[in-house]
Amino acid sequence: MRLRPPALLSFSNHLSKGISGNIRSGRETSSGFPSFVADMSTVSTEKDAVPVRTESTQKTPKPLQIAKRLEKFKTTIFTQMSNLAIKHGAINLGQGFPNFDGPEFVKEAAIQAIKDGKNQYARGYGVADLNNAIAERFKKDSGLLVDPEKEVTVTSGCTEAIAATMLGLINPGDEVILFAPFYDSYEATLSMVGANIKCITLRPPDFAVPIDELRSTVSRNTRAILINTPHNPTGKMFTKEELNVIASLCIENDVLVFTDEVYDKLAFEMDHICMASLPGMYERTVSMNSLGKTFSLTGWKIGWAIAPPHLTWGVRQAHAFLTFATSTPMQWATSVALRAPDSYYVELKRDYMAKKAILVEGLKAVGFKVFPSSGTYFVVVDHTPFGLENDVAFCEYLIKEIGVVAIPTSVFYLNPEDGKNLVRFTFCKDEETLKSAVERMKARLIKK
Ligand code: GLN
Repeated sequence: MRLRPPALLSFSNHLSKGISGNIRSGRETSSGFPSFVADMSTVSTEKDAVPVRTESTQKTPKPLQIAKRLEKFKTTIFTQMSNLAIKHGAINLGQGFPNFDGPEFVKEAAIQAIKDGKNQYARGYGVADLNNAIAERFKKDSGLLVDPEKEVTVTSGCTEAIAATMLGLINPGDEVILFAPFYDSYEATLSMVGANIKCITLRPPDFAVPIDELRSTVSRNTRAILINTPHNPTGKMFTKEELNVIASLCIENDVLVFTDEVYDKLAFEMDHICMASLPGMYERTVSMNSLGKTFSLTGWKIGWAIAPPHLTWGVRQAHAFLTFATSTPMQWATSVALRAPDSYYVELKRDYMAKKAILVEGLKAVGFKVFPSSGTYFVVVDHTPFGLENDVAFCEYLIKEIGVVAIPTSVFYLNPEDGKNLVRFTFCKDEETLKSAVERMKARLIKK
């Protein structure tokens, strides 16, 4: 696997050759901005020295320690950006968490579960009632009937489901295909596994799958393909045609598919298609989802993986030794959430479409080139009309001079250059917040 230096730092270094010392020490960069990256690198996982506060070693800097499999990764971009939002009092359209609360009936169910004494370890693969609720929902969404006892595993968020799937089913050296831009945990988890990542880049304006490139990449050596639809950060939804091509390549070459479908209920422009529901695919697919996005409860960290028994075995074994079991009362509450009437999902979609319209129209009016987003609560734009040299410099400017946070996308590529013109905004915020962010940008962001 090609080694990539720590994400954000590496890209700035790459783009501003010869000034990496300045970036690290926080002096001005060649773009004229005080180093934004220096702020961010305070929690780098690189071997920077940090002072240790004890009597005897007060002034002795100790190098940070980390295993090789993680040394190239920095603090996640989402954490960095949310910290900067607080530091600069900027409106946070960066990290994807709603600034409004989840539904009362779900919160009440959690409180009730705690009061009812549902507070000790849950069964490792999930509270039976939740496994049932997940299977029921999957039947409704995909048409597939699964055995809640043998094919559903409850995890601590979809992030753990992904980690358990990779660790439980991928061997060191196995080839795994990702589509870039990709959610940051995929690469880090595959690095922990020691997998060999092959990356296919989805490019604007439509981020379509380059079919020929995919055909020439998939082979008998491919162990798995990871698909995220609706897709973070672009909002792309994989089309039926794309999924059919991927499916036939997987069947032909005996490849597994891991799907991250956490935004399936935020599908605005087309219907979500579950890869596992395509002919011949269930037996080779691990379908993953979670509570957080659909119920605006991202901090609860309840997720799940659905797979046939022969794949569930690996997932469950990894899960058993990663977290063993997931928060018991929150699992009980999640089973109530998943049985919400259809009207809940209709309202959720309606609310998000209104938010999306405010942000998308606003960003267009500000002067961005906005790429179409079919699902998720994200939208990607081209920032180059504003004359900044790359996505990191643009986000720095946006936070410090305009007071709005976005996410630079270069961190979601193996080759950061591919994302240098793109930044991601989220619209999972209340309408007032979205309007204020748009107003700030309209008033202060000037096209070059
Ligand atoms: N999924 C969220 C996003 O893309 C971030 C979650 C996290 O901070 N790890 O914004």
